[in-house]
Amino acid sequence: MGLGFTMCVRSCFQSSCLQWAWRTAFLKHIQRRHQGSHRWTHLGGSTYRAVIFDMGGVLIPSPGRVAAEWEVQNRIPSGTILKALMEGGENGPWMRFMRAEITAEGFLREFGRLCSEMSKTSVPVDSFFSLLTSERVAKQFPVMTEAITQIRAKGLQTAVLSNNFYLPNQKSFLPLDRKQFDVVVESCVEGICKPDPRIYKLCLERLGLQPSESIFLDDLGPNVKAAASLGIHTIKVNDPETAVKELEALLGFTLRLGVPNTQPVRKTMEIPKDSLKKYLKDLLGIQTTGPLELLQFDHGQSNPTYYISLANRDLVLRKKPPGTLLPSAHAIEREFSVVGTPFYVMEYCPGLIYKDPSLPGLEPSHRRAIYTAMNTVLCKIHSVDPQAVGLEDYGKQGAYIPRQVRTWVKQYRASETSTIPAMERLIEWLPLHLPHQQRTTLVHGDFRLDNLVFHPEKPEVLAVLDWELSTLGDPLIDVAYSCLAHYLPSSFPVLRGFNDCDLTQLGIPAAEEYFRMYCLQMGLPPTENWNFYMAFSFFRLAAILQGVYWRSLTGQASSAHAEQTGKLTEFVSNLAWDFAVKEGFRVFKEMPFKNPLTRSCHTWARSQSQWYPIGTRSYSSVPEASPAHASRGGLVISPESLSPPVRELYHRLKRFMEQHVYPAEPELQSHQASAARWSPSPLIEDLKEKAKAEGLWNLFLPLEADPEKKYGAGLTNVEYAHLCELMGTSLYAPEICNCSAPDTGNMELLVRYGTEAQKARWLMPLLEGKARSCFAMTEPQVASSDATNIEASIREEDSFYVINGHKWWITGILDPRCQLCVFMGKTDPHAPRHRQQSVLLVPMDTPGIKIIRPLTVYGLEDAPGGHGEVRFEHVHVPKENMVLGPGRGFEIAQGRLGPGRIHHCMRLIGFSERALALMKARIQPPTAEGREQERGLRRPCFHWSCRVKSRVAFGKPLVEQGTVLADIAQSRVEIEQARLLVLRAAHVMDLAGNKAAALDIAMIKMVAPSMASRVIDRAIQAFGAAGLSSDYPLAQFFTWARALRFADGPDEVHRATVAKLELKHRI
Ligand SMILES: Cc1cc2nc3c(=O)[nH]c(=O)nc-3n(C[C@H](O)[C@H](O)[C@H](O)COP(=O)(O)OP(=O)(O)OC[C@H]3O[C@@H](n4cnc5c(N)ncnc54)[C@H](O)[C@@H]3O)c2cc1C
Repeated sequence: MGLGFTMCVRSCFQSSCLQWAWRTAFLKHIQRRHQGSHRWTHLGGSTYRAVIFDMGGVLIPSPGRVAAEWEVQNRIPSGTILKALMEGGENGPWMRFMRAEITAEGFLREFGRLCSEMSKTSVPVDSFFSLLTSERVAKQFPVMTEAITQIRAKGLQTAVLSNNFYLPNQKSFLPLDRKQFDVVVESCVEGICKPDPRIYKLCLERLGLQPSESIFLDDLGPNVKAAASLGIHTIKVNDPETAVKELEALLGFTLRLGVPNTQPVRKTMEIPKDSLKKYLKDLLGIQTTGPLELLQFDHGQSNPTYYISLANRDLVLRKKPPGTLLPSAHAIEREFSVVGTPFYVMEYCPGLIYKDPSLPGLEPSHRRAIYTAMNTVLCKIHSVDPQAVGLEDYGKQGAYIPRQVRTWVKQYRASETSTIPAMERLIEWLPLHLPHQQRTTLVHGDFRLDNLVFHPEKPEVLAVLDWELSTLGDPLIDVAYSCLAHYLPSSFPVLRGFNDCDLTQLGIPAAEEYFRMYCLQMGLPPTENWNFYMAFSFFRLAAILQGVYWRSLTGQASSAHAEQTGKLTEFVSNLAWDFAVKEGFRVFKEMPFKNPLTRSCHTWARSQSQWYPIGTRSYSSVPEASPAHASRGGLVISPESLSPPVRELYHRLKRFMEQHVYPAEPELQSHQASAARWSPSPLIEDLKEKAKAEGLWNLFLPLEADPEKKYGAGLTNVEYAHLCELMGTSLYAPEICNCSAPDTGNMELLVRYGTEAQKARWLMPLLEGKARSCFAMTEPQVASSDATNIEASIREEDSFYVINGHKWWITGILDPRCQLCVFMGKTDPHAPRHRQQSVLLVPMDTPGIKIIRPLTVYGLEDAPGGHGEVRFEHVHVPKENMVLGPGRGFEIAQGRLGPGRIHHCMRLIGFSERALALMKARIQPPTAEGREQERGLRRPCFHWSCRVKSRVAFGKPLVEQGTVLADIAQSRVEIEQARLLVLRAAHVMDLAGNKAAALDIAMIKMVAPSMASRVIDRAIQAFGAAGLSSDYPLAQFFTWARALRFADGPDEVHRATVAKLELKHRI
């Protein structure tokens, strides 16, 4: 039955007063149409003779709005473009451009520089300019076209008075049909800009009118003010629809005929009128020979929606979009196909639909009343008794959220085009945080302001549209979904928001208040876990956007903007994740007090087994290690609180270190000092095989970069922090477990940015430990702590890039196993600063790579990898070896050094722990076991702190010297502080991503190397001269800790980052 679904929805309201509103509105509409009256008919008696229109912001979208949308998509700080447009006032580049005092090229140069200075990032203003002047964006609003037609039909003149500019092709930018206007005045032609009174006078002169005979519409206050001061009637335009209403009121006649929000049916969306007419006639029992009028509503992105008029019946038809659909999306197949796809028909209910949720042009009290009415109608929907209205089978009872999570995960997976880290995190997080469903009610499923039809004169909901996703379920989903706009920017395509507006000023209730209002009306206790519902709602929106994007890729999008829309999935998924993080904090704060935090400590010296007397630490801020908590929720600060599988991995690694790594250190150390040092040690290769066999391999790759665990062990950064610290207690363990720099950073780079071919060629051998790699950025002639200084050139030549440059401090380049050099150089020295660099994958056997010498660090060569000085002379590299594309080098370098850099910090904690353990062993009297070992009566122990001879000085063991005790205490405190900071950085990276963790990463990079240097230095002091020798790892630890204050970026750079972020966020 054609009207089946409509009737079904309507039957829900039989017990509510909504039914009354629905019917009354329908009847009122029918009466109005029959009487030929119109809602906006005015009193008449107008004395106006012309209407003058500004262009941007009135007839076409304003540059400010286009800029806001473009900034979101290009991740440019919000407001940059607008600020730069206004910069310099009358003499700023924008105004000079409008007066044609500078060319488009000159303007873009100056404007680009201004934007980049303001936002401290490179701003591709060319792309903004292209968008602003593109046919897609610079399109006249249909409501204005209609208004101009009506104005001219009444015999009034029309004019456009625009501040505009010359395009590079020397034509003025006027994307309008000039025939619509009697007079066109353009600032670039006249050399005068609004608000200069001369330009208004010029326009009036050309119209031949007095100021009081015209109405002027502009979106900018100063322009409106200037016109008003001349005596012109003015309308300040916030949105075109409202402006047209105001204009109607002034003129006294209607400017909009036909059905609001409709347009002729789009070419690709046409439906067969004849079969539809026949079907409707049969269905409704109508005898008519008259035509079927068909229009298309301009909204309805996913399901095209049509207005039908047939024999005085006004109907709405909603259908599935054409083409292949994702399973169970667009659930409207309650009808059979008359129009090519499933559809349904409902009654047309006239009224107001507020498309902009910030409700421009309304009074604050009116806005509040609209949102209160929206809340009230939702409460009414949720108060319907499904059984009483025969809807008890409308959906499954209970477990709604788990089913929804499964459904939307499935939907998302079916349309997934690339890995979005926040979506992956949410897919894991949501099932672990499902709320306990309190009530089952009718759920609308897409409850938003623009799905409500309001009474034209009072804040009252007449009809609720878009019921495709309705079912029985958890009503809080609807409440959350109706708050999405609170968190989206006004420029967000598809679903306009108002997170950039002042809600108090607008009079719109905040989301928290909206939830409270709902609970109060429903007589429910406050909703504590509303962040979960918000997280899920944004996750669902992200999945929907991804579906739209997928359809755009397969050429079936219902809207021209679909492709652009889909790209916003990542933005929305990050919003969802923000709510997940907030919910995490709430759960954490609410953990019951009677279940005290576990906090057990063991000393390092406590013996665990006869041969391997290693103590353990165990501290945890979460009650009991569950996989969810251990990995994602609370901060796991001890290995004992890791999830069981990771804890097992940690202990396996610990056993491996004790059984294989520490005992091998003397031999590995002497190999590094031997003449054979520039060849890899066979013992290392042997140990690598053992580590691989024990699954202690490639542990470094963060889960977020490799969610399917295709390449690594799938550990979170926090989990890896504990394992990495343990590996850091030996200089050799990281390589043995294929977790050493610079390979780790390079492998992560390939996973994140490499093509499949690049991965096959380079990533696989690196993951297998068969090859090694290096990263070449630093240059002797420039300050390389600032990567934008890099000078090496990468020039295009036929199918190759040709490299020329001088690099140094390239770790690992001397290793005979090194097969890949990840090279950073400049492809375009004239591009914006951060778009000049590119990254190329250079095979080490390419002719032209000349290693000049190995550099030493405090005299150490660090063989066999070394740190090389090297020249690249006319090195030809195939074009397909470019990573991501030219100009993306800076972006890649930043991504590469995210997790990779805190790995050094994790290892530095390991260095420090071992230094402290050695120091303690050194200063304490020997144990009975130690004495027996020394006398050969007991098997030697290879624990890191063994092989140390304890000392007595000035009649007392060192342990009794107060200064030594103070050193130990100080070292323990400093290690613990730094460890917490490392773990915190890792935790924030896991929860909120590398970008959000920028401050934590910079802080720990500032802290860890200096802390390690101090702790190791104290240990060296306690060892006396022996501490400087190669008999102990202390000297090498110290060298590395010091070197990392450069290799990981100089301390000053990290300090500058911390200060910058501190000033940005904390004032
Ligand atoms: C052991 C080791 C291994 C390395 N491995 C590699 C490698 O594999 N690949 C590679 O490309 N590079 C490598 N490097 C080089 C390292 O990345 C650079 O040394 C580092 O980026 C600093 O650059 P620079 O030496 O040119 O110092 P410069 O940039 O010249 O800086 C010198 C000094 O200027 C000061 N300074 C710089 N910036 C600021 C600021 N913003 N505020 C205040 N003061 C500032 C600091 O005191 C800094 O130490 C390695 C270095 C070492 C020591």
